[in-house]
Amino acid sequence: MVTKYSKNRRPTNVSRKPYAKKSLGQNFLVDQNCINKIISALDPKADETIVEIGSGRGALTQMLVKMSGKVIAIEIDRELGPLLREEFSANENFFLVEKDALEVDFRALTAVQGSARKTKLIANLPYYISTAILQHLIQYRNSFSELVLMLQKEVVERITAEPGNKQRGFLTVVIENYFSTEKLFEVSPRSFKPVPKVTSAIIRLRPKKSFLSSRTEEDLFRELISVAFGQKRKTLQNNLKNATGKIAELIGDREALDALFIKTGTDPRRRAESVTGDEWMILMDYVLRKTVQVIK
Ligand code: SAM
Repeated sequence: MVTKYSKNRRPTNVSRKPYAKKSLGQNFLVDQNCINKIISALDPKADETIVEIGSGRGALTQMLVKMSGKVIAIEIDRELGPLLREEFSANENFFLVEKDALEVDFRALTAVQGSARKTKLIANLPYYISTAILQHLIQYRNSFSELVLMLQKEVVERITAEPGNKQRGFLTVVIENYFSTEKLFEVSPRSFKPVPKVTSAIIRLRPKKSFLSSRTEEDLFRELISVAFGQKRKTLQNNLKNATGKIAELIGDREALDALFIKTGTDPRRRAESVTGDEWMILMDYVLRKTVQVIK
């Protein structure tokens, strides 16, 4: 899956850089101060492997190959492959995977690295696909000690929105269940070429233990959160009343729904955005097992 390109196989027609492709979200970092700041946030070490999604023209890669033990660059654009090989194949620690990140099995990719504690992920993600990639990365979270991601500022704010904040939604609660999150800093559109229309921000995600113990429980949790945030202006009670499918079966009838609020000590008039991560855990645990566990 991973290809090591030797200097001898370097292609010859790489002098002209391909045009940035809007369809692949190609806004390349050109501001060296900003690049330095992002790399400092990642803090790559000589004994660490760094997986980079979307290496582009190598703005971050150029520092990663110098500072880390191994760099696995994933790039979907076949026109950029030759450019990256030309630039970095002289570095023994550089490996290129020319593939859609959504199709990459990160567990298999990083398995040979040994400890996940020594593997980090960095990505300046194309915005059109960032939530899909985030969802994909959730299943591979334990392959990394941390993920440093550049996303649209609004997405970072949504992910890190505290309880009570209107921006809190489905994505916030799902991500929060798998990672501790930290907004690091914002990046001006002027740091890119071509200049994007939106401001970006860097977020650090550190995997944490989820209270959900199977894929089925994870799917049910998503269903619960999705229903609870169904109509953001409605109360928890009104949204959960309209649940359908498996989660509706687990919640039960009106009486059972009333019991859920009473037993978990949750005010049914609250809105989903006010519910904390621990409170979701109590609610979900009740739905799954009809018992209330005290969360320490
Ligand atoms: N890392 C470079 C930088 O900071 O200048 C490039 C960032 S650019 C915003 C996003 C990069 O991701 C592009 O090079 C694009 O071709 C690549 N890309 C887009 N979709 C991808 C996907 N599904 N899998 C892997 N790479 C992808």
